Amino acid sequence: MIQIQDVILSDDILDANFCCDLPKCMGACCVEGDSGAPLTESEHEEIKDILPLIWDELSPMAQELIQKQGIAYVDTDGELVTSIIKGKECVFTCFEESGICKCVIDKAFREGRISVQKPVSCHLYPIRESSVNGLPALNYDRWSICTPAVRVANRNGVKLFQFLQEPLVRRFGKEWYDELCQVALMWDQMKNSR
Ligand code: SF4
Repeated sequence: MIQIQDVILSDDILDANFCCDLPKCMGACCVEGDSGAPLTESEHEEIKDILPLIWDELSPMAQELIQKQGIAYVDTDGELVTSIIKGKECVFTCFEESGICKCVIDKAFREGRISVQKPVSCHLYPIRESSVNGLPALNYDRWSICTPAVRVANRNGVKLFQFLQEPLVRRFGKEWYDELCQVALMWDQMKNSR
């Protein structure tokens, strides 16, 4: 376990190689799983506000579900998560012609049509954030659907924390991320000197 400022990290956040390989996994993390993506209360409010701007891009089934139960629900763990269609995909998914699953919120944000980003829990995945003694705690969530991401990263030598630079800076700031990179360097040197 490693602590950087007030954030606790499991060792494999520094050790693991990871780089999403969308043509292979088809964005399965937005479809598979038992519940939707964790949302903060403020993300819930922000997404409700921009909903009219992305409404036409949602599938008819997503629109029907949102009209019935809203964009989010509380799952069996008591966590606020995005609504999912028939136990499968998140209501904010869309599918490209190739079949790759994308996020409507992320697409609209990257095209400059909205200023709200997708939930930080989606952005950080496969890092999952929980809380230990009141401090944020980060773990690498290993899931078989991401096997292609591990294969390609092992070939190219891309570390998980490098691939997730953008969401880690979004969540904890640039100064914190720079410190993480320095610790990762020392961590490698320490392991290589054993
Ligand atoms: S997190 Fe896993 S399933 Fe999701 S896009 Fe990346 S490799 Fe694919």
